[in-house]
Formats: sequence, C-alpha cells, structure tokens
Amino acid sequence: MVEIGDTVARVKVVNMVCLPFNISCGFSKNCERGLTGFCLTLNPATAYGYAGMGPYSGGQAEYLRVPYGDVNCLVLPDDAGEKENDYVMLTDIFPAGYESTELAGVKPGETLVVYGAGPVGLMAAYSAFIKGASKIMVVDRLPDRLKLAEKIGPIPIDYSKESPVEQVLKLTGGEGADPGCECAGCQAHDSEGNEEPNPTINQLVRSVKPTGGIGVIGVFVPEDRKASDKLEKKGQIAFDLGLFFSKGLQMGSGQASVKKYNRYLCNLIHEGKAKPSFIVSHQLPLKEAPDAYNTSTRPRTGIYALRPAANTFVQQGDECREHHKRAVYDNQHGPSTKGASCRS
Ligand SMILES: [Zn+2]
Repeated sequence: MVEIGDTVARVKVVNMVCLPFNISCGFSKNCERGLTGFCLTLNPATAYGYAGMGPYSGGQAEYLRVPYGDVNCLVLPDDAGEKENDYVMLTDIFPAGYESTELAGVKPGETLVVYGAGPVGLMAAYSAFIKGASKIMVVDRLPDRLKLAEKIGPIPIDYSKESPVEQVLKLTGGEGADPGCECAGCQAHDSEGNEEPNPTINQLVRSVKPTGGIGVIGVFVPEDRKASDKLEKKGQIAFDLGLFFSKGLQMGSGQASVKKYNRYLCNLIHEGKAKPSFIVSHQLPLKEAPDAYNTSTRPRTGIYALRPAANTFVQQGDECREHHKRAVYDNQHGPSTKGASCRS
C-alpha cells in the first residue's frame, strides 16, 4: 500500500493487502449477508477493469485506486512476501473455485465432477479436496490442464476422446456425480474446439445424479453481440430444462462473493493447509503482459503470474493505492483472473 485516504481507518500504509476483483461497500443488505459479489450500493456488480462492470480501472497495473478501502482490503499475515504467489490467488480464482463448490453443495465424502480445468476449475477441484470430497473428476480437452489436474489428485476426463457424460457414469457406477461445477462458461468449446455456450451445462445435467446440485461459476453474460451463436447474442442458451426438472436438480450461479471466503482461505494458506500457487507455470514482469496475452507470439499453454515492477508511488487522494501489483491469468482464454496485492 502506498497511500490511504482520510476516511480509511483500519488498513495502514505498512500493510500488504489483497483485493477482491469485485468491489463492495460492506454495508448494503447483500454485503451484510456476505454476498459481496452482488453489492447493492455498486449494483449490479462492479469489478476492476471489467467491461460493463463499473468505471474502475483494471487491476493488472502498477497502481490501483481502491474504493471502500477498509472493507475491501484483506490485510495479509507476516508471511505475505514469502507466500505471495499463494495469496494472490485470493483475489479471484481461489474464492471463485471455492464458491462453485458451495453453490454445488459439495459435502465431505461426495463425488464431484468439474467441467473446465482452467484456473477456476482447478481451484474448484482443489477446494473440493479441502472440503473432503471422496472422488473428483475434472473434464477438459487440453492435455496440459488435465495433467495439472491429475497432479493434485482428480481423475482427468478428456472430452475430446469420449463423451464426458459416459466417462462420469462409468466412474460412478452409472449413478452420476453427487454435485457438479460449471467452470467453463459461455465460451465453452465442443470436442473439436469450436466455441459453443451450452455443452458443459447440459452435460452437467446428464452427469449429476437426480437431486444433485450444479454450481455455475463460469461466466455467462446478459448479451454478447459478437457471439456467433444466435441465442448467445441475447444472453440465452439452449438448456435442457426438461431433464433438469425431471431429475430434480438444483443450480446456483453468479460471480464469486470473494470477501465471503478470502479470509478463511487466507488462513488455510497461512497455516500451510492450502497452496494454490501450484497452478502457476510461468512468472513474467508486468511490462511483458501485453506480449504474453498475444497468443500468436506465445504458446497457448500454461498459467502465468505477472510480477510487479518495484517502484514507489504516492499520491494524494481519498483511497488507498497500490504499490506492488500482480495479476494472474490463464493464457488459454485471456484475463480470466485479476490479481492485486500491494505493500509499502
Ligand atoms: Zn454493498
């Protein structure tokens, strides 16, 4: 942190803090219930540098203006420097993956299927392990992602080779998984790699056993004019509602309420019970970010952490500003995660 505003009382310039990708006021009715991804003051949802989500500049930068600093800053423990790659995951993907397991209703001993092995899908699988799931299956078609998933324990399922539903049913004695997580969103791909908005959600309906839960954390948007799919342009998808209803399934969805979980997940990191940095394959200086996003010059593999430049900045203002900053993103699909941490 390089500066705090006049009204900030709790956090100090000496603190190293971690910021949720979305911004909340802390006092609205939803914030009071912990639903900070749906803050009513900043309604409908606000995030740093996200199209259609407010006027705030992006988090992948040297400095960041943080509104409601006391509410939004999670002050990190004294091992923050040593475990920076772990704590930066608290900004988005670790709480997001965890929330998908909450929305799905994962309980100890249950069998879970996760569709999508990007950063959030991997964090969903990792969170399910933390919660004591007995068997976890992760569905994707990209070998490096499946390999990474397998490394932390889940059974990898390659949907480009065989129907993922059939594979899940085989692995669960024909019953299907207890709950399932949707971690791909409307930019899911079919087995040939063509973008399609609805395969994962419908495959989940078939992969989960009757009365199971589905947690949708993959992003679906109210409209996408550039989408090639006619329905997707209007924010709609062809959904197997009949089967969903007849199986008595439940579904929870929405962006992560990061603040609801980040303090507890932070404790797990601090106490050595969680190490989400296992997903980081490369580290780059922030100035190389534009090149790193350019998939024509960089291979579409791996999950990168951007390192901050070590310079200082102090500016007058009513909000805290960031000094050191990092961002984590998935090189497969661009900026899926915005990371932000700062210290004096
Ligand atoms: Zn609020």
